[in-house]
Amino acid sequence: MNDILPPNSASWDWLEEKIRSLMNIYSYRNIRTPIVESTALFVRGLGEVTDIVEKEMYSFEDRLNRENLTLRPECTAGVVRAVVEHSMLYDGGKRLYYMGPMFRHERPQRGRYRQFHQVGAEAIGFPGPELDAELILLADSLWKILGLDGVRLEINSLGQPNDRKAHRNALISYFEKNIDLLDDDARRRLYSNPLRILDTKNPDMQSLVNAAPRLLDFLSDESIAHFDAVKSILDAAGVVWKLNPRLVRGMDYYNLTVFEFVTDRLGSQGTICGGGRYDYLVEQVGGKPTPAVGWAIGVERVLELLNEQGAIIPKFIPNVYAVIPSVNNILIAIQVIQQLRFLGVSVQMHSSIQSGEGMGSMKSQLKKADSSGATYALIFGEEEISRKCLTVKMLRDGHGSQSEHSLDAINDLAEILKNC
Ligand code: ATP
Ligand code: MG
Repeated sequence: MNDILPPNSASWDWLEEKIRSLMNIYSYRNIRTPIVESTALFVRGLGEVTDIVEKEMYSFEDRLNRENLTLRPECTAGVVRAVVEHSMLYDGGKRLYYMGPMFRHERPQRGRYRQFHQVGAEAIGFPGPELDAELILLADSLWKILGLDGVRLEINSLGQPNDRKAHRNALISYFEKNIDLLDDDARRRLYSNPLRILDTKNPDMQSLVNAAPRLLDFLSDESIAHFDAVKSILDAAGVVWKLNPRLVRGMDYYNLTVFEFVTDRLGSQGTICGGGRYDYLVEQVGGKPTPAVGWAIGVERVLELLNEQGAIIPKFIPNVYAVIPSVNNILIAIQVIQQLRFLGVSVQMHSSIQSGEGMGSMKSQLKKADSSGATYALIFGEEEISRKCLTVKMLRDGHGSQSEHSLDAINDLAEILKNC
């Protein structure tokens, strides 16, 4: 679990702002659900025989009512619970998004943490393939506005439960024939959840898994039609995709379309976004049967990828550093600074870090002004103040040019200071 400290936290703020504005553009609305949910929600929602439920949840007993609770390992189940609990679909489908921390007890490694952050988008109450495509387009737009490159889209269809029954039998007999090649996890899941075996991370099992019967070959005509419709929309929108018949995703709640955005630049933790359709989850969580589709992005991985490709993420720097040579002028300085802030100028005010030592010399304050990154130093010199003026010193033009400004024309001054 990581602390996120300045100046790096600025890239988080930057990313979150980009996401908020994109979500508005796509008409997705923000939802905030609790970080703790009842354990039963995840067991029922994600599936008992999944990595998350079997070994990754932080669960504990509530002191009072002895209910078992879990730090959310993902947010779709919580969003669906909230949608059902608040009857949010009474007037039609809902497009929602969230951002926040998730918790999974995994082996920490690059791109894999125990507290990590996801941004997710969910469209609940819409059955059509255009929604599957809309979510993919939304993620694709995000890579574009972030300037991410080298991201590939892989898609697959998991069909419907009926399609999966026939595939399940074929899968079990295939794995039974190769029982010696299965690891412990796979053997345990052979009859409880054989599809999960295809999601193995074990490199020794990849060739076995690659040659396994493909779910795609068991899809009904309707499932195929849905998948074809998604693909045609992606083609029409100019989004490049690749079929990955092995893509099954980690949770049991998916059906029909599933997809991942992957990169080769992050080592083995290359999936930055995963999602798909989950038409049976709402019912599973106690609501009326309701179709839905969504995805989640791993924020740490996206930021690492941006870092990797050398993207320049703007850092927060103040417009102005206020230099206050004498404590006698603090009151007037603060009044002026507050007016400037109300007018939209970002101001970092000099403060001494030692008590009882005054404000420090002009020279040391200007040095601080310089290292703050501010474009201007605003100097509240005693002599200027007595004439109701202050000095603006340009810190970034190479020779520190100065000009004097009247405190009576604060609006004009604010315009100058913002312009950097
Ligand atoms: P993986 O196969 O890498 O374990 P997953 O299928 O468990 O991923 P999801 O539950 O679909 O992942 O979560 C969506 C995204 O969240 C992932 O694609 C990844 O970018 C990110 N993510 C998942 N687990 C972690 C983690 N422990 N640390 C950081 N990011 C994570
Ligand atoms: Mg995982």
